Amino acid sequence: MPAPAFATPPQPVSTETRLAYVLRHFRLAYENVPDISIGYVDTQPQLQVADGAGGFFSQTNPYPAAPNMREWLGQSVPFFFDAEPQRPLLELLPSGHPIINADIISGAFYLLSGWQEYYSEERDQHGRFPYAASVQRQYGFVTMPVVNYYFDVLKTAIQHMVGHSLQPRTWLNGAQWAAFVTHDIDNLYSAWKAPTKAAIQRRDWPSLARHLWQHFTQKDAWDNLEEVQQTVASYEAKSTFFFLPEHRKAANGTPNADYKVQQALLVTQIRHLHRNTAEVAVHGSINADSVKLALETAAMREIVDLPFDSGIYLGNRFHYLKWEPTITPLIVESIPACYDSTLGFAEHFGFRNSYCLPFFPFNFQLRQECTFLEIPLNVMDATLHHPRYLQLAPEEILPAITPMLQEIERFGGVCTLLWHNENFDPANKNTGPRQFAEIMEYLRSRAVAFVNGQDIVGEMNKPTSTSS
Ligand SMILES: [Zn+2]
Repeated sequence: MPAPAFATPPQPVSTETRLAYVLRHFRLAYENVPDISIGYVDTQPQLQVADGAGGFFSQTNPYPAAPNMREWLGQSVPFFFDAEPQRPLLELLPSGHPIINADIISGAFYLLSGWQEYYSEERDQHGRFPYAASVQRQYGFVTMPVVNYYFDVLKTAIQHMVGHSLQPRTWLNGAQWAAFVTHDIDNLYSAWKAPTKAAIQRRDWPSLARHLWQHFTQKDAWDNLEEVQQTVASYEAKSTFFFLPEHRKAANGTPNADYKVQQALLVTQIRHLHRNTAEVAVHGSINADSVKLALETAAMREIVDLPFDSGIYLGNRFHYLKWEPTITPLIVESIPACYDSTLGFAEHFGFRNSYCLPFFPFNFQLRQECTFLEIPLNVMDATLHHPRYLQLAPEEILPAITPMLQEIERFGGVCTLLWHNENFDPANKNTGPRQFAEIMEYLRSRAVAFVNGQDIVGEMNKPTSTSS
């Protein structure tokens, strides 16, 4: 499934645009960044970065030359646009000013903007940019937030100039990092279907009778919103529930919700969640355009009585993590007071934009940053054990994701976790309540701040730097 063709030839992204986009995010990542000039040699900045991009950003190649591996913070880190690998990463010029000899501005722009997926035509059967086509896959760094490493190089150079240390931004109550726990609500009433079907296939009539009896006399195992909320609360945490306001299948047959969000009993349950620390958000339906997403957002805002002008942000995450880079940012941008949390790879946990903090996606049409905040998704339950994704054993899950969690903690980032309500069903032994509990216990043991999307938007809008 190819990406839509470009109507007009793409415009080059200028050096100034790249520099402004990257430095804006750098200043959001650290407290009190001093007002010093950072740039390439032609502007005679106080802190110089070597220009290694050549004509790359005037063209439409999705992939740059292979990165050089350099040591930083004890890790082997890939540096793209690194024209002089024989020179040290950080060096003092005869003037006494530092120079960074790899073009970390271009590298950070390339990864954070999602350049590869905008210009690549690779899409999977759901129309998504596949992990298999990514530089993260090719060079093996999906669990390393490489842009944060580049920022650490920049930070180190600045500390050398000003003689004091720069601290990463902190979260609620001064916590060093944050966790954004989320649930996509695709299904509430379908737990009985698979075991019933399996019993029929086995011609196991007693089992079939038992499943049907349970179905008609008991609540469905996935009809568990309050249990999910209480489980999360037992860790002194809160979480965000993304509801799917579309129950009809997409034109290509892909299912949306198995429930109708405006059904009276469910409305009562959603309002109850909303009153009890849970955040309510929108799970944008398959192929929703601006009009559809606006209607879906308005429906959810009406249920919890948060009009668009209330100043309260309402999150969105697209069903199936469907994100078409040439269109989707414009759709999200058209929704007032909206943040998004779609950008993760379904196939692998880690960092799709190689960054562990919320960021403003790049609008390639206008060649400027988008107005909405993206809270990137790091780990989804389905990724961990699925025929087409990873096949981790239950006891392998926490050890597998711990290095990624340590990276987020190291850089003061946000860990976004997606655990579907279906997977709070005790019948799930692979990615079920037990594995969720292990991750939550780890997060709590590392003194994370449990935040929701509204908290994150508020924190990111607080000034952290002495200059803009
Ligand atoms: Zn979904």
